[in-house]
Amino acid sequence: MQKGLVIRSTGSWYDVRNSDGHIYQGRLKGKFKIKGLKVTNPIAVGDRVQFDVEDEAENTAVITDIEPRENYIIRQSVHKTAHGHILAANIDQAVMLVTLALPRTSLGFIDRFLVTAEAFRIPTTLVFNKTDILSDEGLAYQQEIMALYENIGYHCVATSATEGQGVDAFRQLLDHKITLLSGHSGVGKSSLVNAIAPTLNLRTNEVSTFANKGVHTTTFAEMFELAPDTYIIDTPGIKELGLADMEKEEISHYFPEMRDRLNQCRFHNCLHLNEPGCAVKDAVGEGEIAESRYMSYLSMMEGEDNRR
Ligand code: GDP
Ligand code: ZN
Repeated sequence: MQKGLVIRSTGSWYDVRNSDGHIYQGRLKGKFKIKGLKVTNPIAVGDRVQFDVEDEAENTAVITDIEPRENYIIRQSVHKTAHGHILAANIDQAVMLVTLALPRTSLGFIDRFLVTAEAFRIPTTLVFNKTDILSDEGLAYQQEIMALYENIGYHCVATSATEGQGVDAFRQLLDHKITLLSGHSGVGKSSLVNAIAPTLNLRTNEVSTFANKGVHTTTFAEMFELAPDTYIIDTPGIKELGLADMEKEEISHYFPEMRDRLNQCRFHNCLHLNEPGCAVKDAVGEGEIAESRYMSYLSMMEGEDNRR
């Protein structure tokens, strides 16, 4: 029996890496049912498993057991009765790569991602890339936005993949962790990853092409090893994380600056819309909660499409 980490999953085969770095092609033996969890895939990237080598020459193995998960992200089916799909397990953190240059990431997109990460209890750092092409005005705005998110408790890092700025900080951020790397196509994910792990030699856009397979991503996931014990899992954004199952009453719990004030609202079931004595609205009025965050909250409450 050996222990390993699932670094790739195709649905029927799993690449399992042992502590020596050897990779076996594993398949499942028996049924892996986790109580109360309706999913199409019993094992996902990031799972720590036990396995027996089946055929050393063929590099095949049989997975016999799975260790309890620290966390996992699941994509719910649009049909709530159907099975969901686990995208990844045992994620240490999310790093959301954004840019206030082009293609500019909207604050609404950032907030939706942060809310989802909060719901999955995944700590998130925001990385602001392409700092090199911001005007003085743009830089000042970036300072302001970074301060906004730092104030709520999200660590922020400014980078330029092309100029090498912040690249060491980015490397340190990922060191010895399993990181969900997120961000719109074109923000510079591949460039930044190549800057810290040139041997991986991702073609620019390769990572995002992988992620952009959209629906297919849900049946085919992969972790990239950047350095010993350092992995990234690529996902473009919220669509793949799925916000489907969130109740309206829950949403404010995933805004840390609102969460802190919830018990100060006059009504315990306050939705912070038009209710009198609402501590959240008061805080927005006094500038203690950013207007843009409250706007994101309202737009998520409308809930037309929380996935976009
Ligand atoms: P991805 O889709 O997120 O993987 O983004 P890429 O790494 O493919 O980058 C998209 C484009 O932005 C490429 O043309 C990169 O050269 C460029 N790019 C990436 N990072 C930076 C940066 O920090 N500054 C500038 N000026 N361009 C960048
Ligand atoms: Zn309220």
